[in-house]
Amino acid sequence: MRYISTRGEAPSLGFDDALLAGLARDGGLYMPETWPRLAPQQIADFAQAPFADIAATVLGHFAGNTIPRADLVAISRDAYARFRHPAITPLVQIDRNVWVLELFHGPTLAFKDVAMQLLARLMDRVLEERNERVAIVCATSGDTGGAAVEAFRGRSRADAIVLFPNGRISDVQRRMITTASEPNVHAVAINGTFDDCQALVKAMFNDHAFRDRVKLAGVNSINWARVVAQITYYLAAAASLGAPHRKISFSVPTGNFGDVFAGYVAKRMGLPIAQLVIATNENDILYRTYTTGRYELRDVVATTSPSMDIQISSNFERFLFEAGNRDPAEVRGRMGALRQSGAFELSQGQAAAMRSDFAAATASMPDVAACIRDVKERSGYVLEPHTACGMVALQKTRAPADAAHVVLATAHPAKFPDTIESVLGERPVLPPGLASLMTDRERMTVLPNDLAAVQRYVLETTGAAKGVTA
Ligand SMILES: *Cc1c(COP(=O)(O)O)cnc(C)c1O
Repeated sequence: MRYISTRGEAPSLGFDDALLAGLARDGGLYMPETWPRLAPQQIADFAQAPFADIAATVLGHFAGNTIPRADLVAISRDAYARFRHPAITPLVQIDRNVWVLELFHGPTLAFKDVAMQLLARLMDRVLEERNERVAIVCATSGDTGGAAVEAFRGRSRADAIVLFPNGRISDVQRRMITTASEPNVHAVAINGTFDDCQALVKAMFNDHAFRDRVKLAGVNSINWARVVAQITYYLAAAASLGAPHRKISFSVPTGNFGDVFAGYVAKRMGLPIAQLVIATNENDILYRTYTTGRYELRDVVATTSPSMDIQISSNFERFLFEAGNRDPAEVRGRMGALRQSGAFELSQGQAAAMRSDFAAATASMPDVAACIRDVKERSGYVLEPHTACGMVALQKTRAPADAAHVVLATAHPAKFPDTIESVLGERPVLPPGLASLMTDRERMTVLPNDLAAVQRYVLETTGAAKGVTA
């Protein structure tokens, strides 16, 4: 399997090189040349398989012959060994035909662990083989950073530099980034928004001299392997609810369009998905694009679901490419317009494809609070705010009545205790093992939203400034 850039001006790569590259050198995102297909019986058989084995099977379809199957199984089993639930991503039924897919049983209580634990081990394996070392620079709206720190702390072949928007993430989220004591972990608070952090990371990737000098690698959801790792739970959940014989719908709290795009890929691989809902909060660029056909940036507003406080949904470029008949010139044109004027129009074909492949809805902060209260009253289950956006969106869209509805629970309530307490009057408790998080010593560097300053910091912390690369 080869990987091609959505912008068509970078060389195609194998899975291992796409894994390390993250962003393509022309600024585009990597996409597989073709979609692997799963037979209906193969999907049905996933109902009996351990999660790690499904992950290895999915990876096998995308990794081609770059990593042998036995190694993929070993890597997957190791990646999920620390999860706090034996099913890894269990389903909990909260209504007659509504399930919550709990993706938060990993070390940092958010769904990002599912992909990041696997990604770190895959990278390690490739770097070990090549005897290389990389600098991982990642931007986080809250949860990616902690997941990256947990996955990469203490690893000998990577420095992890995490940029987060200063003062715009929860205390628990920040502490998961700042309390790691390993010398290869570096927390950087940027005086700006998540979009600023993401723009800094992209700019570093697009500065090729810098990129090569520090051996930059990316773990944001622009990294194709992260998307692949997220396909697993769509397949596992659907199969255990009776797919491919039963219709399943998924509602997905969306920010950077990575998670929901993994659902789209599962569908392209043959999983019958009755409805795939893009759920947004007040930062509703994807909902507006869905309804108007115009992708238009606005200012980011801070909400109770901070991991979705995003305006530039990077992975949407993958869908544009796919829905635009994989014409890279078309993607380049739209991304150019976005850079120049902060907006672009979808083609008629892209707009029609978006409406046929997805549904979309927005949840306001009052909607979220009412939903958390309502679900708690009716079922006793506590939703955290991002998951509640997904539940609200499910209720607002015309879900097919005969389907089993799955809402992706992207975080544990204890990650957002203030919001839960203000709505329900009770404070969720952190799972055991995380008790010391709130008292451990924090370590971080505050930097301005300035590319030169951040590049200088990366050079210094990775040793590349002194020409030390290994
Ligand atoms: C990252 C995140 C999201 C958004 O996921 P995307 O893949 O960026 O769309 C939603 N909820 C939580 C809790 C997250 O951490």
